[in-house]
Amino acid sequence: MPSETIQWFPGHMAKTRRMISENIKNVDIIIEILDARIPYSSRNPEIARLTESKPTLLLLNKASLADPNQNALWVQRLTNENTICILTDCVTGQGLNQLQPAIRKILSEKLKKYEDKGMTRRIRAMVLGIPNVGKSSLINKICGNKKTRVEDRPGVTVDKQWVPTSIGVDLLDMPGILWPKFEEKRVGENLALTGAIRDGILDLESLAVALCKRLRLLYPDLLSARYKLGDMKAYEELSDYDLFLTIGKKRGFLISGGEINTERTAITLLDEFRGSKIGRITLDRYAKEELHA
Ligand code: GDP
Repeated sequence: MPSETIQWFPGHMAKTRRMISENIKNVDIIIEILDARIPYSSRNPEIARLTESKPTLLLLNKASLADPNQNALWVQRLTNENTICILTDCVTGQGLNQLQPAIRKILSEKLKKYEDKGMTRRIRAMVLGIPNVGKSSLINKICGNKKTRVEDRPGVTVDKQWVPTSIGVDLLDMPGILWPKFEEKRVGENLALTGAIRDGILDLESLAVALCKRLRLLYPDLLSARYKLGDMKAYEELSDYDLFLTIGKKRGFLISGGEINTERTAITLLDEFRGSKIGRITLDRYAKEELHA
């Protein structure tokens, strides 16, 4: 059985934190992007703290990869008097037409005050989210320009910039990275499984075994269907690692001497999960999670 030890690197984001707090007064609304497959794990608790009291539009992005039932539950859970949550997908375009009405709805009182005074003013928003949730994809979708994002490049001084969009909102694009939270092992696994943390930080085999463990619990039917495992009850006594080996065997990933090629099995499982070939899966279950709100 491979080691389950995971070493997290410390989140260093003082500069980003400073930029957010310095600029928050210049925006009307925060657009925070989460990964719909891991709404809990992809939420940076710093953001909630820094943006408290600002109207927030939460996007559960990559919604077409996540479990539709869980999507609906999470939307309900994350919507409150100061926050509207909607499902989006930057690949299929799902939900993007709801952005403008949702923003106008959250800001309706403020906008009405301006209108009553006969003033027209563009709405200003700050887009935040941990790496890989789809910030660039969203900005490109609503700006129609492939090179809009400010990037962190060594040796190049980049400043914030305002980006006009097709949804009547100017976006504040800032350099900097918001690290995800790393304290909980399961959260780290979720981030690695969905690609928010690069492969190489976690051992692929341990990660694939962790995936088997989660899927046999949460989505046994999908796991069985994809890897032709039949009745999952037959594996109840098997360890997660042995189930992982069974999948390798079913796929015919053998090396000389009849041993199972664990590396190939791990890579296949992870690729197929990330490409949603196993099905639409949400790893953070709505009912069991406590949010940093
Ligand atoms: P950023 O680091 O937050 O700017 O994330 P990117 O926009 O670079 O997206 C990271 C990866 O996720 C890229 O491979 C995108 O193509 C992919 N991606 C972004 N949004 C979506 C989405 O809504 N659905 C799917 N299926 N993939 C997405």
